[in-house]
Amino acid sequence: MNIIRGKRAGFCMGVALALKKLDEAILKYSSKKIYTLGPIIHNPQVVDKYAKDGVVAIEDLSIIKPEDVVVVRAHGIPRGLYKKIEEKGAVIIDATCPKVKKAQRLIEKYSLDRILLLYGEKDHPEVKGLLSHAQNKGMVFSSIEELKKIDLDPFKSYFLASQTTQQRQEFMEIVKLLKNKFGKDFPILDTICDATRLRQQEAIEIAKKSDLVIVIGGYNSGNTRRLAQVVRTTGTECYHIQSADEIFPDMIRGKNTIGITAGASTPEFIIEQVERRLQSLE
Ligand code: SF4
Repeated sequence: MNIIRGKRAGFCMGVALALKKLDEAILKYSSKKIYTLGPIIHNPQVVDKYAKDGVVAIEDLSIIKPEDVVVVRAHGIPRGLYKKIEEKGAVIIDATCPKVKKAQRLIEKYSLDRILLLYGEKDHPEVKGLLSHAQNKGMVFSSIEELKKIDLDPFKSYFLASQTTQQRQEFMEIVKLLKNKFGKDFPILDTICDATRLRQQEAIEIAKKSDLVIVIGGYNSGNTRRLAQVVRTTGTECYHIQSADEIFPDMIRGKNTIGITAGASTPEFIIEQVERRLQSLE
């Protein structure tokens, strides 16, 4: 069996940076309670590891006390929440990915006189954060089909932005549709991050050479789910798994070449476990 492992599989810059900040906070504030607002990244194994170090992922601010530390996750948080944490008196460590921050800033600027059309997943924390930077004056859609159903007013001004981990191919189709409708000067904020674009491109290349592709990452990780979608568009069989113990002999029987890729929040050790599991089943 031939295994092709994606060079771009695993942690992106934003995730690595967020975890570095959390590690530093654990060392610096060893006597304090450390919270993250939502999981620091979308990977259950990583979140479990930090839970053992005493880091607690919370969804609301009510339990935060002035002596606590709050680490803002890689996806960012809605704008108003910073102020609320400050009011609690807690130490804030902002681990928002710089690329998400840049998208937030751009959206804030453009939404001064335009309405945001945001290509993304409505319930994703990054999307909620981005929308808050448009003073919540925006519409979120997760596909070109959904966008077509939105009744856009020809007398109003809009602009387009994207969740950082969305599919580039569909984004470009959306750009085309909006430029056809509103003219070539329609403002586009290309906020899809390079890490996502290059990883998706590599996954397609791997899929073309493979009989099966295994995509590794949290089921709650949007970028991992989309990576699996991108692979499936090539027609190559694909499994999205969270850990090596989800691989069974039947899944790989008769496959000569197996590709492996992983989402931006998947740690290296899990990718290695998957590779070893495949080798053990040869
Ligand atoms: S995928 Fe891109 S935007 Fe998202 S955390 Fe990683 S580097 Fe940042």
